[in-house]
Amino acid sequence: MSDYCPVLWPEEPTPDHLNNCSDCGLDKHGSRMVWGEGNPNAPIMILLDNPGAREDREGNPFVCGTRQTLQKAADHVGLTMEDLYVTWILKRKPIRAYDKEHVRQICMNHLGQLLKVKQPKLIICMGNVAVQSFFNDKDAEVKGAKGQGSSNQWFFDCSWLSSTGSAAPPEPLVCFC
Ligand code: SF4
Repeated sequence: MSDYCPVLWPEEPTPDHLNNCSDCGLDKHGSRMVWGEGNPNAPIMILLDNPGAREDREGNPFVCGTRQTLQKAADHVGLTMEDLYVTWILKRKPIRAYDKEHVRQICMNHLGQLLKVKQPKLIICMGNVAVQSFFNDKDAEVKGAKGQGSSNQWFFDCSWLSSTGSAAPPEPLVCFC
């Protein structure tokens, strides 16, 4: 891994009309909405399960371990923040137990709207939760999906990124990591 030093990426503000969204009930957990970060017009969308901690106890922003790893991996394959937009299945961090299936299904409506607007050239689903929610298949697994494809959706693991180092995929892709 490089000696790249992770930095705070700018957050894309939550649309005004969704700032107080309470559709799924996670608003009662007290965590704030996090819509996305990175370049809002990036060709590559990274999809994770839910935002982690973004501020410390004093309220100071910091880059959590997950985002550090992601940024270092991106740097390793020659990608910068300009290439990437990061968002989540859930737009709030759950604090306690919740009905995962139900909440994910509700919040996927927001992702659907977001995809229509952004139309990324490549979506990278990171982890089983992102894959299962994105494909509405609770049995889908990253491990089993690698290398599968259909005429307009190809499923790869991210090794192609390492091998090409390219930010311009040859086909519309859905990539599992
Ligand atoms: S997680 Fe999604 S559905 Fe739930 S309150 Fe946030 S935006 Fe609304």
